Amino acid sequence: PAGQGAALEAEGITMRFGGLVAVDDVSLRLEPGRITALVGPNGSGKSTFVNVVTGIYRPSAGRVRFAERDITGLPDHQVAAAGVVRTFQDPRLVPHFTVRENLLLGAHRQFRHTGLAAALALPGATRDEAAQLALVEAVLALADLTDVADRPIDTLPYGTRRMAEVGRALLAQPRIILLDEPAAGLSEAEMERLSQLIRDMKAMGIGILLIDHHMDFLAELVDDVVVLDSGRMIYRGDIAGMRGDAQVIAAYLGD
Ligand code: ADP
Ligand code: MG
Repeated sequence: PAGQGAALEAEGITMRFGGLVAVDDVSLRLEPGRITALVGPNGSGKSTFVNVVTGIYRPSAGRVRFAERDITGLPDHQVAAAGVVRTFQDPRLVPHFTVRENLLLGAHRQFRHTGLAAALALPGATRDEAAQLALVEAVLALADLTDVADRPIDTLPYGTRRMAEVGRALLAQPRIILLDEPAAGLSEAEMERLSQLIRDMKAMGIGILLIDHHMDFLAELVDDVVVLDSGRMIYRGDIAGMRGDAQVIAAYLGD
């Protein structure tokens, strides 16, 4: 079937730190144009899972495949160049650079022809600088950052910096994007903007893993949810089913 080649498959991922099993035999599949939420208590292994999938850590066991290619243990820049891109829990932006400059950094390393330019209806999706700059402007607009594009990033509110972090990741032209708590610390209005941006990414056919714990935010947005507890996957299904799941309530929703 069309698009099948761009799925990301994590199979039996285990990550140990000394005696601690941070991620314990987790398998999941991210499909193009689908949003999967990854939830669970603090310390349940969510960020570690993302770190393994994106090449920050080599797993103790298990394989990661993307577009039917084994990417297990590839360095993070090669994983990103292959189209699997992440954001960090703490935005990693260059403080004195403007918003536009920070986004340009995301575009600069691996500018290539993927669906993004086409999805944004940009003419001539080529490798040249003009196309790259047009893409930056389009993503600035999409992330609602055009008005602040020339401001140094460190003079802007936290929520704006988070949007810039997501925008920068988008400029790497991901086919799969992993968002580690992008809504943390956002106001309701900011969350609504982020939600729209994530919907736009879904519409472009990007496969999305979204770590978050605001159930109302997730309920309107996601196709699937996966719940981790102490590194183990205790639930996979839809949000409604999750809310009624005894194990999830005991581990996570109960408190
Ligand atoms: P979450 O993102 O769900 O809050 P993490 O993946 O950050 O959880 O952490 C899972 C567990 O792994 C925690 O107990 C954490 O302390 C531990 N951990 C994460 N990274 C490391 C590391 N680099 N070295 C040792 N322990 C780690
Ligand atoms: Mg985390």
